[in-house]
Amino acid sequence: MQPFVLSRPKTLAEAAELASARPQDSALRAGGIDLIDRMKEGLEAPARLVELRWLGEADREVMRALGPEGDGVQVGALVTLAQLAAHEGFGEAHAALREAAGSAATPTIRNAATLGGNLLQRPRCWYFRHADLVCLKGGSACLAVSGENKFHAILGGGPSFIVHPSTLACALTALDARVEIRGASPRTLPLAELFVTPKQDAKREHALQPGEVLVRAILPKPGPEQRSGYAAVKEKQSHDWPLAEAAVKMSLQSGVMTDVRVALGHVAPIPWRSREAEAVLEGKPPSEALFAAAAKAALAEAKPLRDNAYKIPLAQGLLREVLHRVAGVPLPE
Ligand SMILES: Cc1cc2nc3c(=O)[nH]c(=O)nc-3n(C[C@H](O)[C@H](O)[C@H](O)COP(=O)(O)OP(=O)(O)OC[C@H]3O[C@@H](n4cnc5c(N)ncnc54)[C@H](O)[C@@H]3O)c2cc1C
Repeated sequence: MQPFVLSRPKTLAEAAELASARPQDSALRAGGIDLIDRMKEGLEAPARLVELRWLGEADREVMRALGPEGDGVQVGALVTLAQLAAHEGFGEAHAALREAAGSAATPTIRNAATLGGNLLQRPRCWYFRHADLVCLKGGSACLAVSGENKFHAILGGGPSFIVHPSTLACALTALDARVEIRGASPRTLPLAELFVTPKQDAKREHALQPGEVLVRAILPKPGPEQRSGYAAVKEKQSHDWPLAEAAVKMSLQSGVMTDVRVALGHVAPIPWRSREAEAVLEGKPPSEALFAAAAKAALAEAKPLRDNAYKIPLAQGLLREVLHRVAGVPLPE
C-alpha cells in the first residue's frame, strides 16, 4: 500500500474542501473497511485520506444521529451497522433496516462499517477487484460476460454485470429512504437517484461528485400499521456476501396490503425495486398464491448469464419467504 496523509478536518465544509481540492488523489474515509481494502488490493492509491470520524461536535452530531426526525427517522452517515442492528426504536415499521444491518458481513466489520460507507462501497466483482485485470470500469469490456459469472447480475445488467454490494441499500429502497448530501450542491434526493446504472455510466455506481459528503438517510413517516422485513441467502450464512436479498414494506389494514414496496439485492447493478411485484400485491389481501405471483413477476424480466440462472428461483423463494413473514401468513409446509 502506498503511503498517504491522514487529514482530520473539524467541519464537514473543511472535509468537502479537502476531498475536492485534488479529487483524483483524495478519498473520504468512514469505517475504512472498503476503502482500505481497495488500497490494499492495489486498485487505488489516494495520497490523502480525509477522515470523517473526527469532526467537531456540531457536525459529528448530525453524522451520528439516530432517531426521530419530524414524523420519520434519521440515520446519520457515521452510524455503524452494529448500532443499526441494535436499534430498538425501529419497531416493526422499519424492521427491514435493523434486520439488514444485523445480517451484513461479520460482527467485527459491523462495529466499524458505517451507513454512508456501506451505501457508497464499490462492487465486489472479482474482475473489478483484481489489480492485474482491466474490466469495463477501467477499460472497454465487462469480463464477467464471457467469464465466471456465478455472482453477477440477472436483472438490469449490461454493459456491466456487477451486483450492487450494499445490503443497507436493499432495505432502504423498500423503506422509501431519502439521502441528504452536503458539498458544492447541497440536496436531498430519493435513494434511487443516488445510484447510477451501468447504462447511465458503467464506470461509477453513485452520483456523488468529489468532495460531496453523504450526511444522513431519512426514512419517511411510516404508513398506518406499517411493517417491513429483510432476508438474505448466502453460501456461508455467518460472514459471506449475499447471493440474493429481499426487503419488503407494506401497510396492512383491514386485511389488505397497501403502500407495498419490494426491493431485491445482489441481483442487479443497483438495488432493484420491483414495481411489477408491487403491482401484483397492492390493494389485495395477503395469500400464498398472491405471493407466488408477485415473486414470479419480480423475476419475469431476468436474463441470467451462463452460471447464475440459479438466482431466479433463489430470489423468488426468498421474496416469498419475506412476504409471508411480513404479512403474517404462515409458510406452507
Ligand atoms: C467478509 C466481508 C463480508 C461483507 N459482507 C457484506 C454484506 O453482506 N453486505 C454489505 O453491505 N457489505 C458487506 N461487506 C462490506 C462492508 O459492509 C463495507 O465495506 C462497509 O459497510 C463499508 O463501510 P465503511 O464505513 O467502512 O466505508 P469506507 O470504506 O470508509 O468507505 C467506502 C466508500 O464510501 C466513501 N464514503 C464513506 N462515507 C462517505 C460519506 N459519508 N460521504 C461520501 N462518501 C463516503 C469512501 O470514500 C469510500 O469510497 C463485507 C465485507 C467483508 C470484508
